[in-house]
Amino acid sequence: MTAIAFIGLGNMGGGMAANLAKAGHDVRAFDLSEAARKKAGEQGCNPVDRMEDAISGAEVVVSMLPAGKHVRSVYENEGGVIELAGEGTLLIDCSTIDVQSARAVGEAAAQAGFLMVDAPVSGGVAAADGGTLTFMVGGPEEAFGKAEPILDIMGKAVIRAGESGAGQAAKICNNMLLGISMIGTCEAFALAKKLGLDPQNFFDIASQASGQCWSLTAYCPEPGPVPAAPSNRDYNPGFAVAMMLKDLKLAQEAASANGASTPMGAQAEALYAMFDALGAGNKDFSGIMKLLDGSLSESGWTG
Ligand code: NAD
Repeated sequence: MTAIAFIGLGNMGGGMAANLAKAGHDVRAFDLSEAARKKAGEQGCNPVDRMEDAISGAEVVVSMLPAGKHVRSVYENEGGVIELAGEGTLLIDCSTIDVQSARAVGEAAAQAGFLMVDAPVSGGVAAADGGTLTFMVGGPEEAFGKAEPILDIMGKAVIRAGESGAGQAAKICNNMLLGISMIGTCEAFALAKKLGLDPQNFFDIASQASGQCWSLTAYCPEPGPVPAAPSNRDYNPGFAVAMMLKDLKLAQEAASANGASTPMGAQAEALYAMFDALGAGNKDFSGIMKLLDGSLSESGWTG
């Protein structure tokens, strides 16, 4: 049994912490939200009211927070993880944040003598609850070796991407590709329908032809061909537009800071920003189908 401080018990962190507890670990669970702490208690964790009570005596700290500023404050501020964690504590941040913040926190942790990894995830709330996330990990080999058995409990795949920040880099590149491929898939269905093709028939063809991609065959934005896809439940998420927009913005920031040319990523960000501004931020990102096939006004999503 390992003493694990888990910080950030939201939609994702709640299920992840519960899986660590289910595996027999002593999970000291902290969140600013009382409701989140209470739920963690009901799921086998030991909720604590103060972050220092979670960190004190922990052998591992895992965090799952909204954005870079939250991660920096939890780790770097006075009374934060780097100040309070005991010698030899392993630090694992699973939040999706900008590469620069991840590298800065990783460096501060290393300077204080800690092993730390950034380990953002692919997979939504269902994968967090089910312990089937994919972790993309950045950090020293030694830290990865120690983090892997903990991450294995919460995921189905744990892959090292490189040094500190590399997990975040892999995550935003993957999600930029996903945003672009989803828009491309929606455009293909919009055109196919205008040309009089039956959507199921077009799916049958494209999924066996060179247009095949995950957005088409696993998460089809057109209702019908993939029964489990959010398109069959009025595009309820799944992976929300606001989350996709966050990741596309992170990708564009990284592209501009590093001189990468990503015109399609920029276009995807612009389209998701427009879709979000129209009121669809809480819908699944595949719902951009409705913007692209002209049926958004019938959806009742816009305010
Ligand atoms: P969430 O908003 O549901 O949870 C974040 C939690 O952090 C909240 O409960 C909040 O109270 C808590 N928090 C904020 N600041 C804190 C602090 N200083 N101390 C303690 N707790 C604090 O978000 P989520 O959906 O669980 O996402 C978490 C991270 O995972 C994000 O970075 C997100 O981009 C990433 N992610 C989410 C999904 C998804 O489908 N939801 C998928 C992959 C990755």
